[in-house]
Amino acid sequence: MLQKWRRRIYQWAQKNSMWVIHFNTGGCNGCDIEILDMLTPRYDIERLGILAEASPRHADVLLCTGPVTLQTQDSLWQIYSQMPSPKWVVAVGSCSNSGGIFIGSETTLGGVDKVLPVDLYIPGCPCRPEAVIEGLIQLRERIGNDEAH
Ligand code: SF4
Repeated sequence: MLQKWRRRIYQWAQKNSMWVIHFNTGGCNGCDIEILDMLTPRYDIERLGILAEASPRHADVLLCTGPVTLQTQDSLWQIYSQMPSPKWVVAVGSCSNSGGIFIGSETTLGGVDKVLPVDLYIPGCPCRPEAVIEGLIQLRERIGNDEAH
């Protein structure tokens, strides 16, 4: 019973205070610029309780942009493994969803789901800040419903 209540309290805190880390797995930077836009006063994601975090050890959500390349796959896995559980992965942009324009390239593996379990896919090339914010709000609802890795 105590475990259950403790879990509920953690869930409530995480749902209302998502700490997000961003990693570019090899994209063109278009999606990254849109993610940076979310931090500007125009979008101001902190008003929604979402904080951009630099350390994976303090992050709940991993926002990935770009296709996974041979060069970044180990770093991607390392960042994910350093995040405390429960944790969530969001694939931002077409490249991150499926490989996008890099499909068929000999130096890319494809989308982020080739390496990590992805919880949410946000399409677009590039993905607009409004779409990323909408996705994070949807993820917040799922955190409240106890869907996690
Ligand atoms: S989805 Fe488009 S903008 Fe985003 S990294 Fe890929 S090519 Fe660049």
